[in-house]
Amino acid sequence: MDETIEAVNPATEQTIKKIKVSSPEEVSKKFRKAEKAQEKWKELSVKKRCSYLRRMREVIVADMEGVVETIKKDTGKPDTEALMSDVFATLSMIRYYEDNSEDLLKREKRKTPMEYYKNKSYVEHDPLGVVAVISPWNYPFQLSLVPSATALAAGNAVMLKPSEITPLSGEKIKDILDKAGFPEGVFQIVQGAGDVGEMMIEEGPDKIFFTGGTETGKKVMEKASEQLIPVELELGGKDPMIVFEDADLERAAKGAVYGSLANSGQLCVSIERIYVQESIEREFIKRSMDEVEEVSLGASKGCEMGPMIRKGQIEIVKEHVEDAVEKGADLLTQFRREGRFLYPLVLTGVDHEMKVMKEETFGPVIAIMPFRDEREAVRLANDSEYGLNSSVWSENKEKAERTASKLEAGNCYINDVVKNIGSPNLPFGGKKNSGIGRYHGPEGLEAFTETKSVMINGNDGVEVNWFPYSEKIYEDIKTLVRTKHGNVGFFKKLKNLLHLRKQMKSKK
Ligand code: NDP
Repeated sequence: MDETIEAVNPATEQTIKKIKVSSPEEVSKKFRKAEKAQEKWKELSVKKRCSYLRRMREVIVADMEGVVETIKKDTGKPDTEALMSDVFATLSMIRYYEDNSEDLLKREKRKTPMEYYKNKSYVEHDPLGVVAVISPWNYPFQLSLVPSATALAAGNAVMLKPSEITPLSGEKIKDILDKAGFPEGVFQIVQGAGDVGEMMIEEGPDKIFFTGGTETGKKVMEKASEQLIPVELELGGKDPMIVFEDADLERAAKGAVYGSLANSGQLCVSIERIYVQESIEREFIKRSMDEVEEVSLGASKGCEMGPMIRKGQIEIVKEHVEDAVEKGADLLTQFRREGRFLYPLVLTGVDHEMKVMKEETFGPVIAIMPFRDEREAVRLANDSEYGLNSSVWSENKEKAERTASKLEAGNCYINDVVKNIGSPNLPFGGKKNSGIGRYHGPEGLEAFTETKSVMINGNDGVEVNWFPYSEKIYEDIKTLVRTKHGNVGFFKKLKNLLHLRKQMKSKK
């Protein structure tokens, strides 16, 4: 009998559907199909490929509610969260590559050094081949479709493995691409758990784009290294938020609560550590508590916090909170749950000995710690194994930018949280345990290409560097070294260059 995975709605804990797990033979067959399809796909002009992206965007917009419904079934999250962070964010990225890929992928002229007499140079951005996209469950639509669409725009075929926890979003994406008329085999999905992900790697894709936890990312990289497959790793975070005493406190408290509790904290760029200047700590805590009381739990349109999508995450959150309390933190709320819904948890008096300030919690926890001055704020924020997003709050622009520059993170948002990652123009990715590589923006498209440099020699006859070598050539090269890299005056330089030009011509 075929192995299956169950699509369970975390809000109701009801099983919606059983989905067949891809067998090793199927994975292999799909890969061969993708390789073949890519041969034709890469020959299409970028403009033509982007016309498929446009149709995909139109299909999504026309079926917006259907997409939201699917995401809700997979994750139980409230409609607004699904529409805004999964659907809208995805469409913005698709639109960006639809509009910019032609320009970003075009051949680029490069300067040619003068010693390459009569040469020209340019750079091309070739597709890689077949890209394996392995995605997590927290934003199953965005984190599957954005890398896939970017890879497709660059001329690659894509094999997607969604998380076994959110298989319906994967099916929906396949359905959307089919409706948009993508050529057969250019985009395919396989379903199953981590072992199916491993099968994809064994097939030898030309790149692996992985989003998920740091430990899994390391395993993926290790397996990829057997075949020297390039990997891009978008991993976990422990994002700091620094609130200086000159910040707009009301806005900062609202931002902190949103940044910590959006998607119930199951967000790679969720605010996991809040550092508040000691002079405003009490006021900040009070305002944050007022905000927390207003937050509603549920899966419908007016609700803010949905359930924990992965059941096991509840235990991790509990463990981090209990560890903090045991080590002396104050829990200002109670640990309460209804099914998989967890009420917000606010901790104060935390320090860096506690798990809640060191390991990724990935749950609805607000952890607040005071700092004395700018120096200490930067030290605390950087005292982490992670480096994904970060946030600085101050009305002093110079101080905020100076602090942002010092933070060891791939991204920083001044006076806001989270949504900087949704700007299609900006690259996104992490440092340290938060990952390797960047996507989104021009860098994100380039990440799915192989850069090829081409040089054309328009010279005829023998080159100065070719055999035969001689005393005279040696002297000429010495002149070249001095002229190019020594401190030679302008007129001397000109004289030398004219001399060398003459020598090059005379070697014919
Ligand atoms: P996991 O690392 O558990 O899984 C990610 C994906 O990898 C899933 O599809 C999973 O399959 C698959 N997988 C598991 N084991 C292997 C393996 N050995 N080889 C290949 N694939 C494998 O992460 P989660 O799904 O739990 O996602 C949460 C994590 O993702 C958090 O740490 C979060 O911070 C991070 N994340 C990072 C983002 C970023 O952009 N930096 C964005 C969003 C999330 P299956 O689930 O079926 O087991």
